Amino acid sequence: MPPRPHPPFKSCPCGSGRSYAACCRPAHDGSAPPSTPEALMRARYSAFALGDGAFVLRTWHPEHRPRDLHLDDGTRYLGLKVHAAQGDEVEFTVRLRAPGQAPGSFRERSRFTRVGGEWVYVHGDLT
Ligand SMILES: [Zn+2]
Repeated sequence: MPPRPHPPFKSCPCGSGRSYAACCRPAHDGSAPPSTPEALMRARYSAFALGDGAFVLRTWHPEHRPRDLHLDDGTRYLGLKVHAAQGDEVEFTVRLRAPGQAPGSFRERSRFTRVGGEWVYVHGDLT
C-alpha cells in the first residue's frame, strides 16, 4: 500500500519540532538512512502516523519482521515522546487512538541493531 497523501507538515509527526522535510522524510524516501537508533525510532513512528508500512517493514530486523502489516485500520497517532536514547536502546511513549476507543498510550523500550551498516528495529518491551 502506498503511503497515504498528506499535506506538507509544518512540523514532523515525530514531534522533533523540525519540518518533515528536514526530519523524517529523508529517511522515508531513502535519501538519508537514519544515523542513530533514536532517528530511526522517530522515522518509524512518523511512518506509522503516515501509513508508510513499507518503511516500517524494511527497517524491521528480518528475523523479527511480521509477515504483513496493516496500517489502514483507522488508528490515529497523536504524539511521540522520547524519554531516553542510550546505546542501541530507545525508550519512548506513543499516544494514539484506535477506532472507537478513547485515546490511549503505551511506553516501550526498543532495541536496535545494525544490518548491512544501517540501523534496524529488533524488538520492544512495554515498560
Ligand atoms: Zn521526524
